[in-house]
Amino acid sequence: MSQVILNSAAEAEKQAVSSQENAPVKMVISPITGEMHKAAKVPTADEIVEQLAMHCPDADTDMVRRAYDYASAAHAGQLRLSGDPYIMHPASVAYTLAEMGFDEHSVAAGLLHDTVEDTDSSIDELDELFGEQVADIVDGVTKINIMTFDTKEEAQAENIRKMILSMAHDIRVPVVKLADRLHNMSTLDFQKLHKQQRISKETMDIYAPLANRLGLHQFKQKLEDLSFRYLQPDAYAEITNWLTENQIVERKLISKVIDKIEGIMIENRINGRVFGRIKQTYSIYRKMTAQKTPLDEMHDIIAFRVIVQDLRDCYAMLGLVHVLWKPVSGRFKDYISMPKANGYQSLHTTVMGPEGERIEIQIRTEEMNNMAEHGVAAHWMYKERNHAISMQDMPQFQWLRDLMERQRDETDSKEFMSSLRMDLFNDEIYVFTPQGSVKQLPKGATSLDFAFLIHSDVGFHCVGAKINGKLEPFATPLKNGDMVEIITDKNRHPHRDWLKIVKTSKARSRIQHYLRTEERVAAIALGKELLEKEGRRMDFNAPKAAKDGRLQLVVPEFSLNTLDDLFANVGTGKLTPKKVLQRLLGILNPKQEVPEEPAITPIKAGETSKKAADGITIKGIEDTLIHFAKCCKPVPGDQVVGFISRGRGVIVHTANCPHVQNLESERLISVNWNNEESKPFPAEITILGHNEKGLLAKISLAFVQQDVNIDALEITSSVDGRSHMHFTVEVRDAAHLYKTMDKLRAIEHVLEVRRGLSSFDE
Ligand code: MN
Repeated sequence: MSQVILNSAAEAEKQAVSSQENAPVKMVISPITGEMHKAAKVPTADEIVEQLAMHCPDADTDMVRRAYDYASAAHAGQLRLSGDPYIMHPASVAYTLAEMGFDEHSVAAGLLHDTVEDTDSSIDELDELFGEQVADIVDGVTKINIMTFDTKEEAQAENIRKMILSMAHDIRVPVVKLADRLHNMSTLDFQKLHKQQRISKETMDIYAPLANRLGLHQFKQKLEDLSFRYLQPDAYAEITNWLTENQIVERKLISKVIDKIEGIMIENRINGRVFGRIKQTYSIYRKMTAQKTPLDEMHDIIAFRVIVQDLRDCYAMLGLVHVLWKPVSGRFKDYISMPKANGYQSLHTTVMGPEGERIEIQIRTEEMNNMAEHGVAAHWMYKERNHAISMQDMPQFQWLRDLMERQRDETDSKEFMSSLRMDLFNDEIYVFTPQGSVKQLPKGATSLDFAFLIHSDVGFHCVGAKINGKLEPFATPLKNGDMVEIITDKNRHPHRDWLKIVKTSKARSRIQHYLRTEERVAAIALGKELLEKEGRRMDFNAPKAAKDGRLQLVVPEFSLNTLDDLFANVGTGKLTPKKVLQRLLGILNPKQEVPEEPAITPIKAGETSKKAADGITIKGIEDTLIHFAKCCKPVPGDQVVGFISRGRGVIVHTANCPHVQNLESERLISVNWNNEESKPFPAEITILGHNEKGLLAKISLAFVQQDVNIDALEITSSVDGRSHMHFTVEVRDAAHLYKTMDKLRAIEHVLEVRRGLSSFDE
């Protein structure tokens, strides 16, 4: 009925020390059990399959065996830094995943996770051999690995961002990545010192909190203890040595407490189990530093867990324990009625134990215990076997869904990182609505954050709050247990200063979004108005020019992308309406600016305009070879200018082509389109879009609907989840081209559309 789990890290350390004395053999600590393995011991396919079958009895073990053989063959001849055959690593990762209760696809992906990156294997091949699920997980894990960045911060932010994205797709991707990291941490001894430090810090900063957020408690603790060992070797040694020396005393105390608890369970006919353990090394260290207490005086280093059958028994046990031992005030936490963000549920209390020692007792049901032990894996084991688990179905991952939603808004990786840190690391406080429901916020959050948590509209019109019945400014930080009532006013709107008040990334991103859209909408409207007014003064109908596409012609003149950008720039005063209209008129009537045609043969005096090739008319010139410039690819309707080349005839550029400025002005010649030709003209369009399934299909459809042929297409995907699509198409004229571009801009996930070959680098 009871079981004593002793601090495994301490034992492992002890063994490590003694084994190092005898022979400097490489030893590996199993991340989960803490047992020492000789480095040469690679988990076998049988061992992995045995673990897998224990948790998932109907798993496809044959597939896992094939994956094992495949990975062994693929990594054959490769060695780890430890000198072990490479298969040691993926096999250990797979073993951990099987041990944790993950399914055969996760386990197979664990075996195969380094094949695509480090061997000749491809995702397609894995797909064919092991199915789509396994291939997708390996693909996700590989993508997290192979990105390269300029700075470490950037790399970290992007890595995490990729992981968050992959989580929404399939939770098993970050889980395999965590298992990978866990094994790498347990063999970190073989890395160089600076690498040990960097990897440990990254693990402590990112991977452990992530594991925590996914409810993978064991992962979290092991990752923390392993990182702690490298980051603070002295403190780690002090604690583990102390634990080793005091183990006997602690062990006695543990059995004594267990006996007592079992006694009251029998007496009160409550069925269940009791465990006792010495706390995790890193958590002892944190308590030591927080309480500024030396180890010898630390008394709450042991913890007990009581697992009972139902909710009623949880509270009954709590009452009985509090009768038996005096509770330490302020240490009771009810995570059953207020679960943690990762779904964790339990009752926590600290009491003065039989020898006056502070001991922590956790009380929970079997189901809660499963969730606490296995996190997402628990969900896996019971509900969603055999298909990709996305976050959408799990209410405890609301924070992740929020994060997903926001990351679309936040293109800056630093900003994203700071939101993420806020979400992953901050302590939580719980506050109440006037109706008594509980809301969770990070420590330091204000009433304004609370308002946005209730609803964006409540946030947008928030003027203040009643905290526990007392009127307070909305910048007041909230405390645990506060009852908050938001006061709104329809005439109140978000202000830029609000960004300094809010602490949650949700509120921040909503405010930013509001400011961006509101300001832009206002600026566009104002810009339109200003252009119309200025146009009237110059006898030019600006709204009409906006409609028929002429105004569009001036947009690239100011290095802008859309007409709305132009309006917004006028509206915010970055451009004067006069300058815009003057420039436009210059393009529409370029005759004054373009020098008269130079004296060049053959000229036939008195000759009327002659239609030359390809729909271009050149006054005074006939029989001239016409080329269209490849740089700007003019189409009918564009304002064009000719350049008299040496030996290649007249080259026609658009009037605003940047190359024209560098041409000898005396060789420029005015040319016009004639309207008789209606053959298609080549044009180039560059689109920047989010990598989303179906985006290309939507774009292609838009081209078809606009009667535009696609001649060539080139796609480059970048690490930030965006792709550059470069299309060579055929259009009738400029109006046709610009109309098509407008349709493209309206497609969801299309970020920017530009004429020509653009790089979007700026
Ligand atoms: Mn790996």
